[in-house]
Amino acid sequence: MGTGYPNKTRWIPGPVASRVLRYGLALASVAAALGLARTFLHFHLPQTFIAFALSAIAITFWYGGTKPGILAAMLASVVRIYFFEPELNAMSRGVYYLVFLIFALLMIRATRARNELEQRVAERTAELTRANEDLKLEIAQRKRTEAELRDSEAYLAEAQRLTHTASFALNIASRKIVHWSQEHFRLFDFDPEGGVPPLEVVLQRIHPDDRKRVEKIYETATREKMGYEVEYRIILPNGTMKHIHMLAHPVFSASRDLVEYVGTLVDVTERKRADEERERLRQVQADLARISRVTTMGELTASLAHEIKQPIAAAVTDANTCLRWLTRDHPDVEEAREAASRMVKDTTRANDIISRIRLMFNKEASQRELLDINAVIQEMVGLVHNEANRSSISIRTQLAADMPSIMADRVQLQQVFMNLMLNGIEAMKDMNGGGELTIQSRHAEDGQLMVSVSDTGLGLPPQQADQIFNAFFTTKLHGTGMGLSISRSIIESHGGRLWAADNSPRGASFHLTLPTNPF
Ligand code: ADP
Repeated sequence: MGTGYPNKTRWIPGPVASRVLRYGLALASVAAALGLARTFLHFHLPQTFIAFALSAIAITFWYGGTKPGILAAMLASVVRIYFFEPELNAMSRGVYYLVFLIFALLMIRATRARNELEQRVAERTAELTRANEDLKLEIAQRKRTEAELRDSEAYLAEAQRLTHTASFALNIASRKIVHWSQEHFRLFDFDPEGGVPPLEVVLQRIHPDDRKRVEKIYETATREKMGYEVEYRIILPNGTMKHIHMLAHPVFSASRDLVEYVGTLVDVTERKRADEERERLRQVQADLARISRVTTMGELTASLAHEIKQPIAAAVTDANTCLRWLTRDHPDVEEAREAASRMVKDTTRANDIISRIRLMFNKEASQRELLDINAVIQEMVGLVHNEANRSSISIRTQLAADMPSIMADRVQLQQVFMNLMLNGIEAMKDMNGGGELTIQSRHAEDGQLMVSVSDTGLGLPPQQADQIFNAFFTTKLHGTGMGLSISRSIIESHGGRLWAADNSPRGASFHLTLPTNPF
């Protein structure tokens, strides 16, 4: 950076050389005055030494300083007398001396004034140079700041573009948009060339069904001097609909008046769609799970009913026949015995049918694969989540880490967990104040793993707790009474156990164990 001085190399005399030069100037200038005056005389021109001498004295004072100037005055008065009028009397010499002395004094004064002036000019120049330097620094700093600001604005615009986030500032008194970012133009499909649109035009883009709600939230927020958050839809001129999430923060004046809202608008269309899709899928999954459970149960019940009805009907007929033979005036015991043994045959057949159903879940029929039990539990929790939410029931999982993989039939285990969880939810549905379903997995003895499904519901049916695993036992209006029976068959076919217990102070727990290396 420059210093403000001209960048010239010049010879600056040292102190001794300077003195020699300055006193030399006294001698030289007086000698020059003498030379010129004598030349004039030689050509018979008027006597001019005084004028030349005064000039020499002035030049010496000006360029050589005070002392060389005084020397020049003394030399000039001596030269005047001895070279031009040596015969002058003392009085006249005195006049000459006086003239040169007065001139010297005047020159001293003039030189001093000039020196002061020079010093002031030098000081002023230095001040100006400093101010100039400061100004240059400030300009450079400002340029840097401007460049940084431009960069950060560019980054911000890019970030807004990537995240579909626009920013705005709205003056409340004038209802005028005072800041409107580039992304805002894109989001609302306005042409940036047209400048920031008026608020009323922007509001027209809000979906007619949402407009009143948004305006109401805005009015309440301004009245209460609060920030606000609102989600609404906008309709673009080409008919596209977008979901917007808006966040507005209040800005106050020193006197606590609400002046502006500063905020962001985020295009949440994609997120909204994904949420809706996820919710729809979850609903479909839950419905499917329920439908499959119901239809499986329904079909099973129908076919069982059909198959069992026949032997039971036969048994009833036999029982009536048996009674008839026995209640005769002369009971025919032989006939009654035959009818009774047919009854035994029929009921044994009914029993066989039920055993066959159990066999449906035997080892051969199932497809075993290496499974992570915690993953199966999590899948099922995901499926019943909505069902639980609807009844304000929370689901908690306490799954032990490092659970060993097991060889099991995934679909059958899913069916067991689904049954146990839905039973738990159903047991808590009619209780006030929600409830909690806890699913726990842990290591058990002998290399087994244990899963417990506990609820805070009604608890097991009193006096009938030992019957709940029986086929067709149900205390529910539309129950099938098959869930627990099938679940137990599945677990037992995997070499494990399933049992139930009441919880203290309320609710029931279902525990199952599964061997980790059953075969
Ligand atoms: P369903 O659910 O169709 O009745 P289940 O075999 O699954 O058939 O259950 C049989 C019975 O066991 C239920 O009707 C209910 O009385 C009882 N039960 C099952 N789970 C629970 C539970 N978590 N809390 C209290 N009782 C239960």
